[in-house]
Amino acid sequence: MTINLISDTVTKPCNNMLDFMMNSNVGDDVFKEDPTVNELEKMLAKMFGKESALFFPSGTMANQTAIKIHTEPGDQLICDKYAHVYNYEGGGVSFNSGVSCKLIDGHRGMFTNEQVLNSINPPDFYHSPKTSLVCVENTTNKGGGACWDINELVKIKETCIEHNLFYHLDGARIWNAMVKTNTKPIQYGNIFDSISICLSKGLGCPVGSVLIGSSEFINKAIRVRKVLGGGMRQAGYLAACGIYALNNNIERLKEDHLKAVEIEKLLSKKHYIKKVEEVETNILIFQLKSNYDSNVFLEKMLKSGVKLISMGDNKLRIVTHKDYNNEMHLKFIETITNLQI
Ligand SMILES: *Cc1c(COP(=O)(O)O)cnc(C)c1O
Repeated sequence: MTINLISDTVTKPCNNMLDFMMNSNVGDDVFKEDPTVNELEKMLAKMFGKESALFFPSGTMANQTAIKIHTEPGDQLICDKYAHVYNYEGGGVSFNSGVSCKLIDGHRGMFTNEQVLNSINPPDFYHSPKTSLVCVENTTNKGGGACWDINELVKIKETCIEHNLFYHLDGARIWNAMVKTNTKPIQYGNIFDSISICLSKGLGCPVGSVLIGSSEFINKAIRVRKVLGGGMRQAGYLAACGIYALNNNIERLKEDHLKAVEIEKLLSKKHYIKKVEEVETNILIFQLKSNYDSNVFLEKMLKSGVKLISMGDNKLRIVTHKDYNNEMHLKFIETITNLQI
């Protein structure tokens, strides 16, 4: 038994999801003729109280499309120094949109309205790039699954309106945030101009992300998605997984969060741990004391059949997910309990 905790993207579709997928009605989505893709898009637009939505092969492409639409070459977007759009999308912000990032030195990937105000370049000062977009991430990936306070998101919204900035949410793990903070999709729909969500993380789909926004925005997004090569044909088989996941796999995220907290409690007592980032959802980041080597730790874990991932700086990451079941959890707890290092 391998216990894979490197990410919540490692899940495989369950049999019920596969059955649902195989029985779906499909068509050519490039001609907008796939009824299942259309249904998934409608379902998400409605959930978030937006006019429209568009299915994407990846979250990266959905984020990059939003950035392309909200900016002009030479502009600058504001995001945290930990942001996925800045760190993990292959430099797409500059490659696709010719845009630079003003990085905020936030806390666990989150920042304050005050920090946004301090990051906006004066619009009439033509020496500096024009600020046109604010991107936030919820939950934060590199920030260890932390959730935003919705009131701060509202304050930043007001700043965006006042300063004529677009406002994008990278909601790859927004489902985890909603379950944790007891918030609803409509609240995020009311705040943001555009939202990207992932189906292939905690929700357990093999593929898929969706971009949500106004009809005008999504009409532009169809063109950008085409340019990026993201038009898919009988994508309904994949969209069906999304429909299945939205109906069945949201509430169960609580179980992933609970397991992560149990691991946190155990790890924080260990002599070799310097710090465990407080667990809020399904991501746990911990740092070893400097006299212990994270690579040695990783190897020992691997020998016991457990896969974790290194985050640099003697930090390691654990992500709990749908396919990390109770049996695996017990075995992992036992492995940590008995570990000699
Ligand atoms: C995973 C992730 C994405 C999208 O990643 P893809 O692998 O391209 O689907 C975007 N933002 C965050 C915060 C993520 O964790």
